[in-house]
Amino acid sequence: MHDTGAQIEMRVERFVRERVAPALERRRVALDVTAWEVPGEPVPFTHAVAQSFTPFAPGTTWSRPWGTTWFHVTGEIPEGWGGADVALEMVVDLGFTARQAGFQAEGLVYRPDGTIVKGIEPLNGAVPVGPGPIDLYVEAASNPDVGGNYFYLPTHLGDQATAGDDPIYTLRRIDLVERDLTVYHLLRDCWTLTGLIAELDPSLPRRAEILRALDRMCDAVDPERVAETAAAGREALAGVLASPAYPSAHTVYAVGHAHIDSAWLWPTRETIRKCARTFSNVLALMDQYPDFVFACSSAQQYAWMKEHYPALFERIREKVAEGRFVPVGGMWVESDTNLPGGEALARQFVHGKGFFLREFGFEPDEVWLPDSFGYTGALPQIARAAGAHSFLSQKMSWNETNAMPHHSFLWEGIDGTRVFTHFPPADTYNSDLSAADIARAQRQYAEKGVSNVSLIPFGHGDGGGGPTREMMEAAGRAASLEGSPRVTVGTPRQFFDLAKETHPSPSTWSGEMYLELHRGTYTSQAKTKQGNRRSEHLLREAELWYATAAWRGLADYPYETLDGVWHTVLLQQFHDILPGSSIAWVHQEAERNYAAVAATLAPLIEAAQRTLAGPGSAEVVFNAAPVAAAGAPALGAVAGSPPAGTAPVADGSGWVLDNGVVRAAFDAAGLLVSFVETSSGRELVARGEAAALLQVFRDLPNQWDAWDINPHYRHNVTELREADSVKADGDALVVRRTYQSSAFTQTFRLAEGSAELDIETRVDWHEQEKLLKLAFPLAVHADRASSEVQFGHVQRPTHNNTSWDMARFETAAHRWVHVGEPGFGAAVANDSTYGHDITRRWAADGSTITLVRQSLLRAPRFPDPEADQGEHVLRSALRPAPTVLEALDTGYRLNLPARTVTGGGPVAPLVTVSSPSVVVEAVKLAEDRSGDLVVRLYEAQGGRARARVEVSEPVARAWTTDLLERDAAGLTDASVQVAAWEVGEPIEIVFRPFEIVTLRLRRA
Ligand SMILES: [Zn+2]
Repeated sequence: MHDTGAQIEMRVERFVRERVAPALERRRVALDVTAWEVPGEPVPFTHAVAQSFTPFAPGTTWSRPWGTTWFHVTGEIPEGWGGADVALEMVVDLGFTARQAGFQAEGLVYRPDGTIVKGIEPLNGAVPVGPGPIDLYVEAASNPDVGGNYFYLPTHLGDQATAGDDPIYTLRRIDLVERDLTVYHLLRDCWTLTGLIAELDPSLPRRAEILRALDRMCDAVDPERVAETAAAGREALAGVLASPAYPSAHTVYAVGHAHIDSAWLWPTRETIRKCARTFSNVLALMDQYPDFVFACSSAQQYAWMKEHYPALFERIREKVAEGRFVPVGGMWVESDTNLPGGEALARQFVHGKGFFLREFGFEPDEVWLPDSFGYTGALPQIARAAGAHSFLSQKMSWNETNAMPHHSFLWEGIDGTRVFTHFPPADTYNSDLSAADIARAQRQYAEKGVSNVSLIPFGHGDGGGGPTREMMEAAGRAASLEGSPRVTVGTPRQFFDLAKETHPSPSTWSGEMYLELHRGTYTSQAKTKQGNRRSEHLLREAELWYATAAWRGLADYPYETLDGVWHTVLLQQFHDILPGSSIAWVHQEAERNYAAVAATLAPLIEAAQRTLAGPGSAEVVFNAAPVAAAGAPALGAVAGSPPAGTAPVADGSGWVLDNGVVRAAFDAAGLLVSFVETSSGRELVARGEAAALLQVFRDLPNQWDAWDINPHYRHNVTELREADSVKADGDALVVRRTYQSSAFTQTFRLAEGSAELDIETRVDWHEQEKLLKLAFPLAVHADRASSEVQFGHVQRPTHNNTSWDMARFETAAHRWVHVGEPGFGAAVANDSTYGHDITRRWAADGSTITLVRQSLLRAPRFPDPEADQGEHVLRSALRPAPTVLEALDTGYRLNLPARTVTGGGPVAPLVTVSSPSVVVEAVKLAEDRSGDLVVRLYEAQGGRARARVEVSEPVARAWTTDLLERDAAGLTDASVQVAAWEVGEPIEIVFRPFEIVTLRLRRA
């Protein structure tokens, strides 16, 4: 027989597009439209409908970028319209382009009583109407398409001040439509089957059978009487649609989803409206499809609904109770996981799960981070300690160099904790349940043969929109369809239960999941990152001093204020804010938010310290670090002054800072050419090299400007070896340099008795597409570097043996990195910086130079063309450090500088810990406001440790809890030990390597 398959495919494609699709709308009539444009920011429904609306015709432009226009739509349903085989709908086209939902205009439809019907989105612009007259309002948001067709061009659209005032959308139509249901279902049949044949091997009989059926469908449907003959067309396809899936077909759990970025190419104020639009779409779809289930993460987004759309929130609450609107993830937002500090990442769960438990009595069981840019090795332990048993992401499929070997596996963290993890093999969190997506899931699934089930989140995401009826129709047709994977609509929990049950011995991936992409997100938008770091430490100080004062009966704990501040800080850790990948609007707002956090917390901290110090005229030095600093004990205060600085001394052609502990020597250009530990005589700076050297690199990413650094940045470098001036200024050596339009002031200080050289880098930065690094070539032979992460550190090779090592050319660290040899090493600490690269090379004298570089600043041009411009003050420290514990000391001290207040005298620490490798990460009062004290500790060296924890006030009960401060008997080794504690005994805890312990104490 001759092969006519290609001709049939062409026939079907054209017949469906040109004949069947136009018959979908059996009749249509324009509705009456009046409009009112909001002069400023969005207003509530009640305000809008009280305005005076003027007639508005389709074809007219509406609203400037980021504007809002309210349309009032009225009309009668014509006589004779409606019936069993049609649906009456209002169809709105706000001027949509073919680009995906969520990146252009959107609307929200209200009834005259202010209740919400559903959202209006590209590919989802229909609203059911009737019976009775039509009277609806559409709040239309003219959100600009910031990315455009070419995603990386600098844009003025990301800031209201520069976006312009000209309208950017034209209303195409607001019609009343009779949608023919038989034609609609015929179109869905064709979509599923034409999608399936594209995935089937041409040699398969199944493929030929479907083609022939489609050919017969074209015969059966009369192009001049499509509506009347559509049923015959469906009959021609019924046989191939009824043929069941192969027994071995992969099963895809389809979970309705809308990955709404809490801010990105839009500000959070728009995200709030995006959530209302998407969630109302979801609720409307639930009415149509009883088996539809929607998974939604981010307590913040629910909290926004509760505050701004309370009636919608109540409808969501009902569906949560039915198990159909499913809170997932348990975090406050889908945060980045590389950059948030340990306590902050813990609080993402404390506040996220706390909200879900309080509002819904529901606790998500999984961590849900489909889109964050790589995953810290601290996360498995944090997830388990927060009561989660599963983890989901798809982002690792974005790796440029190496493919992760698994889709369903155990992920093992730095402490050995394991959590069942799934990467949806369809490699998307925005599926439309097309045959292509579900076939990809089956094709790519790495655990074939030992497991045969995967999860696929479906629905328009990123900018929202959510699942559509077309996706539910696709799911129904693919439930059991020969040649297709099986599609089952269900919850994440159903999937994870089945996946674990059917795959009892999964493989293990150990350590961090480093994303081989988006390495610029450790550095872009330095002020946002600095704001996060400062805020995390201010919160630590405020909690510590208020907990101390509260337990001594001196002050009330400011629960409300601290909760509010935490919510601000947790929101900014969203995976497009803290990483620096949002528009200008978002980062300007982040900087204002962080300024407000500081303005709230600084006076609180001072008030608590004054209360603790009592009346008097002495200088009292407070140290919130978990290590001694400035003469004060960890978590306590002393009377006296912080240590003085060591004055720079001119030495031949250069300068010297020498305090008897270390000696720093600078040449005439202010370059640090020697740094010697006096006791050992060891030199830290590699011979012939300069440390604290500023380097400016060309930084032109191949794509994704704010996100990416590509390795070719290293090919073009300018080292700032010339100085405009080098001067002693009191106890500081001040070096000024310039590069093109930018000015740099490096200030070096050495306090008496300290091994830490303090380096302040003040930059007036006016470069674009440049990367500024601070380089430390060290006389250390280090095979690997230790970098601080949450509650511990990771070790990464300094060489390029494998493609995995090579791809890790830029890495994230928190407060410090450490490189060492047995008995000696060096720490490089920072107060604002996350991006680093740590490499080694062979020197001419045969020694190894380990090069530690901090990535201080970038200046990408998309999506914020002004990113990183202006003044920055960044602090670093260099010290000899035989072990990571010295690095840890310096990291805490640099980030928690001692504060001095005037008062009565010393303040004994509320909590002291006997082991130097057990660190206090937080001291606070319990979330339940019972007045219990909560002390979060962890083992920081990666070994076992025994620590005695002493509390200055009498304790009636001591026990360990999970992160949410719930009893955790048996959860950890520590919980077993502390369970037997009795009043009067010392609290002694043996820690596993990197173990996090939450100790809860009740006052006697
Ligand atoms: Zn995202």
